[in-house]
Amino acid sequence: MHDPKNQCIHCSVESCRHLKQEQGVCGLDSIQVAPTPMAYSGDPADESMCQSYDCK
Ligand code: SF4
Repeated sequence: MHDPKNQCIHCSVESCRHLKQEQGVCGLDSIQVAPTPMAYSGDPADESMCQSYDCK
């Protein structure tokens, strides 16, 4: 179990409605991170993505 008081998710995805842009953090208590369909390419950008993303 994580301690919500200590949770901080730094993010810079400006198109997501959950981003608190001035603070540069996610407004959600927690997020789900999952592998992308491009996983196993070895490129970090291909390996994981935020599944809690919600377009503005
Ligand atoms: S839901 Fe994901 S993409 Fe959106 S602000 Fe939070 S961490 Fe960033």
